[in-house]
Amino acid sequence: MAPGVIYLDHHATTPCDGAVVEAMAPWWSEQFANPASRSHRPGLLAAAAVEQARNQIAAALGVQAEAVVFTSGATEANNLAIKGIAEAELRSGGQRRRLVCLATEHRAVLDPLRYLGGLGFELVTLQPQADGLVDLERLDAVLDEGTLLLSVMAANNEIGVLQPLAAIAQLCRQRGIRFHCDGAQAVGHIPLQPASQGLDLLSISGHKLYGPKGIGALVVDPAITLLPQLHGGSQERGLRAGTLPVPLIVGFAKAVELAMADQMERAERLGALRDALWGQCEQIGAVERNGAASPRLPHNLNITVKGVEGTALHRELRRHLAVSSGSACSSGEPSHVLQALGRSRQEAAASIRFGLGRGTSAADIHRASEILSRCVAELRAA
Ligand SMILES: *Cc1c(COP(=O)(O)O)cnc(C)c1O
Repeated sequence: MAPGVIYLDHHATTPCDGAVVEAMAPWWSEQFANPASRSHRPGLLAAAAVEQARNQIAAALGVQAEAVVFTSGATEANNLAIKGIAEAELRSGGQRRRLVCLATEHRAVLDPLRYLGGLGFELVTLQPQADGLVDLERLDAVLDEGTLLLSVMAANNEIGVLQPLAAIAQLCRQRGIRFHCDGAQAVGHIPLQPASQGLDLLSISGHKLYGPKGIGALVVDPAITLLPQLHGGSQERGLRAGTLPVPLIVGFAKAVELAMADQMERAERLGALRDALWGQCEQIGAVERNGAASPRLPHNLNITVKGVEGTALHRELRRHLAVSSGSACSSGEPSHVLQALGRSRQEAAASIRFGLGRGTSAADIHRASEILSRCVAELRAA
């Protein structure tokens, strides 16, 4: 971290917790065996560590261990879920071709869906309400017996709004539609139980919950048929070939355990800091909040600053704050999420996503709001 810069970009990534780094340590060089090596003891020990991690993650989510398929992150989990379901439908001779999502999904959902659109599937992209939440009536109208899959994220990575997953799942179940949920921003931050909320497929990511980068999982009931997207080995029930990264898996499980343990306390503390930050933003004047105030991730705030130019605003802010105007994965382009909410390209560029995290203090928020007020005042005066 650059000295003096306050990091408020926890939706892009979170720091790996010290206890997680410690838990991973022995698995790099001392206990380095391949967990697929069943002919010797070191291999069996590595396999046992992987299975223990799988059990821990499964227990935290209230699913059976076999439902957890390790991937390199949420991007790969989304690809496996979406393309895996679509290819299984083609292979089985099924006739469902419609795929449905919200316009505010992450690119790691939109891009695989568009890819399938190019292969003959019909993609229906639904606009959200102005507050970022799904319009259940409109969703109901586009889901039909020809729909194969619906993908709606749990918590938005830019505006933090929480979609009504159980109600959405209900609409899918009635018609035999598979429901995939990108839970990268939700798991470890808000209570989420895929089975009781009716999710068929859930993507999660290690580095969004204070774990290591390069690891994640697709949570999928073993009764659901998916075709693998990586071929070359029988790891992960044949769904994902490749040598398992034991240190990352051990770290991921530790991070999930720690995140579940302080989730409630963290949500309460960061929610209060976020509300204080919004209070300060309102004082600045001509600042609007993007996305419903509730239900929303407690550590998220997204604002549009009127009367300033986005590039200039962010050039000033980045001397002191690590924030962004949108997703780290679509760098450069004004946010498609904010534009789906009705913001112009200029407004989207003059927007700020604040993502608070475990390390954020009241002093950080106080300073951040001072910096923001000063930058906006200077730019408006110029
Ligand atoms: C970060 C993020 C991803 C990508 O996760 P990786 O583990 O980095 O591949 C996907 N979806 C959402 C909503 C995210 O926030």
